Amino acid sequence: MTAEFDVAVVGLGAMGSAALSFLAARGARTIGIDAYFPAHQLSSSHGDSRLIRLGYFEDPSYVPLLQRAYHNWRTLEARLRADVLTITGVLQIGAENSKIVAGTRASCKMHGLEHEVLDRADMARRFPAFQLDDQEIAVLDPQGGYLRPEAAVMGYLNLAVQDGAVLHFGERVITIEPGDGGVTIRSADGQYRAKKVVVATGSWITELVPQLKEHAVPIRQVVAWYQPRDGFATEPQRMPCFLRDEGAEGSYFGFPAIGVDGVKVGRHAHFRQPIDPNQPNPPVNDADTTLLDSFIAKRVPAAAGSRVNAVTCRYTMLPSEDFLLDLAPGNPNVVVASPCSGHGFKFTSVVGEILADLALEGESSLPIAAFSFDAMNRFIDARQSA
Ligand SMILES: Cc1cc2nc3c(=O)[nH]c(=O)nc-3n(C[C@H](O)[C@H](O)[C@H](O)COP(=O)(O)OP(=O)(O)OC[C@H]3O[C@@H](n4cnc5c(N)ncnc54)[C@H](O)[C@@H]3O)c2cc1C
Repeated sequence: MTAEFDVAVVGLGAMGSAALSFLAARGARTIGIDAYFPAHQLSSSHGDSRLIRLGYFEDPSYVPLLQRAYHNWRTLEARLRADVLTITGVLQIGAENSKIVAGTRASCKMHGLEHEVLDRADMARRFPAFQLDDQEIAVLDPQGGYLRPEAAVMGYLNLAVQDGAVLHFGERVITIEPGDGGVTIRSADGQYRAKKVVVATGSWITELVPQLKEHAVPIRQVVAWYQPRDGFATEPQRMPCFLRDEGAEGSYFGFPAIGVDGVKVGRHAHFRQPIDPNQPNPPVNDADTTLLDSFIAKRVPAAAGSRVNAVTCRYTMLPSEDFLLDLAPGNPNVVVASPCSGHGFKFTSVVGEILADLALEGESSLPIAAFSFDAMNRFIDARQSA
């Protein structure tokens, strides 16, 4: 006999676990299915820490979603009675006209967000871990901080189970077939009927959402941890999380010494090397460690003791580096959650709500027009004709 559900969620990383929790909390009969055990090493939702910030340099239009995300993170913590979000402030460092600094200030201005602008001398006095060039400044977002990805994923799954969801781990979904006013989901172990399905399969998304083939590209990412040279300056009270704009070289992100391994850094999108999601993450090599060692020595000298760990992980980029949250073209019973172009974790708590809206109502009152298939295709067309 085929088990029947209102909604099936395929993929239980950040986005799927949150969606499952919101769906179950609204009384939907739900099943969540993951090919592995969630927050595993091949997913994009592990590794101790993820940045969250409110004055979003990428585009001011993300801010209302972030305000909702902060609210939902605090709601999650209240239900779990556990900490998921820690405020340290986030420093966004670079030249005054750099994308990160100018974009953060534009977002703060447009939405009236609290922030401080610090010059090199202010930084040396207040946040001595960092080294700035003469003309560089920093914008402090006092509401920024970090999230604990494993606690968030497991927390959402725990709540989903408390609210009646069924979980299947170690089960890979092979096909999703439309028909009879719903979908049939087949895995190697069984088949399920659901009125709707949410597909949140991260770097494997194109296997179940062919409309994203050639557009959603999983890339290799590397992060490294350093034992600080100056333990005092790199404590979270004196060293906020940070983003640093290095112009043509891209941007770097980092965290103070919040765990035993010390200060963590990475470069956004690293070398932009595409990977095969079904292969193990390619190992860390000399080019990776040289890049990150040089950065930390030059820009965060207080942290540049010894490198104690470096790992390869992955995230999945869309052409515009935005998100995709929409019903599948031609099949409104399939809700698609893109893996969010390397900056999605902070939005998990609002993306879960949006995916539940889309599955249960077919639409969301939250502002997601920029994350539709139409918007993605318009971006691709404009780029091709430019
Ligand atoms: C190193 C790194 C640093 C990052 N830093 C930040 C940051 O500071 N701030 C921020 O906001 N974001 C950050 N991100 C991005 C953010 O973490 C990702 O956008 C987010 O975790 C993606 O979650 P997901 O649920 O889409 O994918 P995943 O976590 O990869 O989950 C997908 C799940 O689907 C399952 N699955 C796949 N195929 C199938 C199938 N056929 N059947 C069943 N299950 C399947 C997988 O097993 C997996 O568990 C970072 C990402 C990385 C890797």
